[in-house]
Amino acid sequence: MANCLICKAPKVLCTCADEAEIVGWDEVRKKCHLEDIMSEVYKDFPIYKFLGKLAKNKIKLPEEVIVTICESYLKNKSGIINKWAWFMRTAKEC
Ligand SMILES: [Zn+2]
Repeated sequence: MANCLICKAPKVLCTCADEAEIVGWDEVRKKCHLEDIMSEVYKDFPIYKFLGKLAKNKIKLPEEVIVTICESYLKNKSGIINKWAWFMRTAKEC
C-alpha cells in the first residue's frame, strides 16, 4: 500500500489533507518532520523524557528548537557522553 510522502502513514490513515485545510501545508510538513526526526533520535536518545523534565519546570521548547537539537544530535552523537548535559547546553544555545 502506498504511504503518504509527508507523514509516512498508509494513505488510508493519513489526515494531512484534512489538517492542511485548517492549518496549511507548511504547518503539516513542519509537524511531520518534527515527529519523524524525534522518532529517529529516540532510538538512542531519551528526547521525550528530557522534554518531559523541562515541561515539569514549565519550560516548553519551540518546535524549531527541538528540530535543531535533534539534527545536532544526529550529527554529533558519537561525541556525546552526558546526554542530559548536552541536551541542556544545546537547548540554551538555540
Ligand atoms: Zn499524510
